[in-house]
Amino acid sequence: MRRYRHYIAGEFCDGAGGSTFADVDPATARPIAEVALGTADDVDRAVAAASGALAGPWGRMPVGARCDLLRRAADILADRSADFVAAEVADTGKPLAWARDLEIPRAAANFRAYSDLMRGWADEAFQTPTDDGRGATNYTVRAPLGAVGVIVPWNLPLLLLTWKVAPALAAGNAVIAKPSEETPGTATLLAEVLAEAGLPAGAYNVVHGMGPGGAGEALVTHPGVRAIAFTGESRTGQAIMRAASDRLKPLSFELGGKNAALVFADADFDAAVAGVARSTFSNTGQVCLCTERVYVERSLYDRFVAALAEAARVLVPGDPLDPATTLGPLISRTHLEKVTSYFDLARREGATSLTGGSRPDLPAPFDGGYFVQPTIWVDLPESARCAREEVFGPVCHVRPFDDEDEAIALANASEYGLAATVWTRDLSRAHRVAKRLEAGITWVNCWYLRDLRTPFGGMKNSGIGREGGRYSLEFFSEIKNICIKH
Ligand code: NAD
Repeated sequence: MRRYRHYIAGEFCDGAGGSTFADVDPATARPIAEVALGTADDVDRAVAAASGALAGPWGRMPVGARCDLLRRAADILADRSADFVAAEVADTGKPLAWARDLEIPRAAANFRAYSDLMRGWADEAFQTPTDDGRGATNYTVRAPLGAVGVIVPWNLPLLLLTWKVAPALAAGNAVIAKPSEETPGTATLLAEVLAEAGLPAGAYNVVHGMGPGGAGEALVTHPGVRAIAFTGESRTGQAIMRAASDRLKPLSFELGGKNAALVFADADFDAAVAGVARSTFSNTGQVCLCTERVYVERSLYDRFVAALAEAARVLVPGDPLDPATTLGPLISRTHLEKVTSYFDLARREGATSLTGGSRPDLPAPFDGGYFVQPTIWVDLPESARCAREEVFGPVCHVRPFDDEDEAIALANASEYGLAATVWTRDLSRAHRVAKRLEAGITWVNCWYLRDLRTPFGGMKNSGIGREGGRYSLEFFSEIKNICIKH
């Protein structure tokens, strides 16, 4: 059994309350680690440590040295990739290749990207005329916010954590991270990497534990925490916003989605089938950017649906360490119950399952894991809950459309607005449709192709603000204007 402890003021430590909780491997449902259960007292200690770091060597470190440190962290993380992959796979049960080839390299890339962006960040200046003819110069300077809270989910644990920690540190803040209770491993390992890279004690702290009534809520309401960057469910975002409102804390929210794919008859058929299959089933559908609604031009519909069902049937659930495995489990028993309840609901709402709709038969020890079959529904009305609510599993609903306007209207008729994909060979259509879609990011003939400098975030219930590139640096800093009369 591993043991994951808090990391506060540069030390691994048990919680003030001494309680722990179990970290479970979702591929087998067996406990793999004992984790410190954070309380408000632990958060208090972490905030004090963060304030101490800001008043000490971390707060005084020149920006160039900060950027060098983040580069070193990226290199150390990459060197220790095998440790991080092992911890991530144990916590999530995801196929090893996904962690090894995407998540852990991307975590290192986050540190590199924000090191480079911070180094190149410039302030603004304005020459202001005055009545006496002498004028004034206005210029902006940026300061870190202070101690900031970073609260992240379990689906891409290290990738999403570093997506916030890297810009927060680059901008000079001290971080208190609250990883998901389902995936405490890599956030803890990251503390070792940052310490080895030379990060002063207190600049990065980890408090493990629960959200409501636990470490998460304590972080949101703590008077010493100046801002919260959160990724997770839209409903959790609402609770955090309510709790943070007393102190008017700045919030950056990356929330849920019910993302649409629009497949036009002129699309490259094989690329569209492969692309929609990847965007629907990757990480067992547990990526906020995953497709759950597929709209296909009627002339292509029957052929497309048959090919997509075939792409789902060839996915192989099972041992995450077996290179043949292409489908991991859902993250937890609670999430399994949620996703299978949608299987039942879909039947009641009139769906036909072209494939899936239940759980696969697997040999021990994976027979106890939280696996479900990849599932494709058709025939649901757009008003069905299964067509409107985020399931966050390997599922999608497919329906035909007749023209471009209808396709756009269907895609936009959602309370979410995170991501969309468009499959077409018509360049004019691609531009036209992408501009009209209510989505923070639209991919044309691709999915999940990320440039870390670009803005990332959702419209409507999918989020508030943008992260990525300078947008994250702006969130994590306070801009001040200085006006000098000549
Ligand atoms: P979640 O909202 O249940 O939990 C996320 C984190 O918030 C966890 O660390 C949890 O402990 C904490 N938390 C829960 N309640 C809290 C509270 N009241 N106060 C403070 N902290 C609290 O989300 P999840 O189930 O871990 O993740 C899945 C969700 O995340 C999906 O909805 C998915 O779409 C979304 N997501 C969005 C993005 C994005 O970039 N938009 C990326 C990944 C995941």
